[in-house]
Amino acid sequence: MIVTGTWSRKNRFNVQWQLGNFCNYKCSYCPTRLRDGRFEFVTIDLAKRVVDNILRQKPDHNVLFSFQGGEVTLWKEFENLLKYIYEQGASSLLATNGSRTPAYFAKIAPYLNYTFMSFHEVSEVDKMLERIKVFHPQHVASYTLMNLNLWDKCVDAHERIEAAGYRSIARVIFDDYCTLNTQQLSYTSEQRQYINKCNLHLLKPARLSDPLDHEVVLPLPVKMKGVINNKFDPRIIQIHDAGTVINTTAQSLLATQQNDYSGFNCYAGLEVLCIGASGGVTTSVCAQDGIFADIFDNPEFELPTVPMSCNRTSCWCESDLQATKISPGEPTFNPNVQPAIDPVFDTAKSLARDSLIAAEDDAEQAAAEEDLLVEP
Ligand code: SF4
Ligand code: SF4
Repeated sequence: MIVTGTWSRKNRFNVQWQLGNFCNYKCSYCPTRLRDGRFEFVTIDLAKRVVDNILRQKPDHNVLFSFQGGEVTLWKEFENLLKYIYEQGASSLLATNGSRTPAYFAKIAPYLNYTFMSFHEVSEVDKMLERIKVFHPQHVASYTLMNLNLWDKCVDAHERIEAAGYRSIARVIFDDYCTLNTQQLSYTSEQRQYINKCNLHLLKPARLSDPLDHEVVLPLPVKMKGVINNKFDPRIIQIHDAGTVINTTAQSLLATQQNDYSGFNCYAGLEVLCIGASGGVTTSVCAQDGIFADIFDNPEFELPTVPMSCNRTSCWCESDLQATKISPGEPTFNPNVQPAIDPVFDTAKSLARDSLIAAEDDAEQAAAEEDLLVEP
């Protein structure tokens, strides 16, 4: 492989931000440190300073703030922060366990570009569907955590959510989540195939658009800065040695165990940033290069400007998997010019890349125009 990533979505910068670590659930696969509340939620003033700092340094980017916890919807200022980000022209993504009421989600939905509602071991499909239906189908998906102990329940949930016309991302679960020892549960090959099939199904054109042609029930938060595809799109694009282009997804790569990028040049810090509940800032969720800033000490920290060389054998976080990676020996590009990838390939590879980018541009333009048409 030569290059992998979501780099055709130009200038995206994804901030994975754990605003606190309090959660009202106690999922068996969730490490205590990710949910015990030992780190209080940030203050709204500090959060706004961090947002301002990132937007100041990424003026030409489509910055996406991806919020997760704990359960961030329990923070009383969450709605205010979403409004603030919306007013600045940036985008927000929420990962939630769906435990708040449909009325709460209806209140925050206009400020969210994407919402991922996780189906956990205590979740009930009917209740989850009540909440998912608050959102426009192009801006919401279920994250169905494929629990080995509750496999049939998870398959049932995944299929009922899909049957209702909403997307469900079958998601692998990890042991020792978010540590150096993070590894997937011991899925059977049939279970891996099932997860892979479910995720590749999401790449079908009908699934990338709105399969049931739902009416727009809420004003959608579309902030157009240049051309951005605001819609759900889980695609990861890979170019292989012979110029072959493959569309896949993060969960498919995990399910088929194709997530070793050791030695690759990784652009996570230029396309992704991670802010932990303790305030520590890392270039990626894998935290390979350690904490380089603390938002409590310095909310005006400088963003990374150079890529890193991957020294891990397992890239397991979805946002890390989506970052551009270039295989060893391939030409790199000047990260100070633009983190959107532009390596100099040989002619065959270059042609494959150019035609891919052109096709993606056309698709994004069409999607953007379509978005504008449906806006109230
Ligand atoms: S809902 Fe999420 S944060 Fe809360 S316990 Fe479950 S996995 Fe952990
Ligand atoms: S494990 Fe970390 S350094 Fe390696 S490819 Fe993934 S994000 Fe990049």
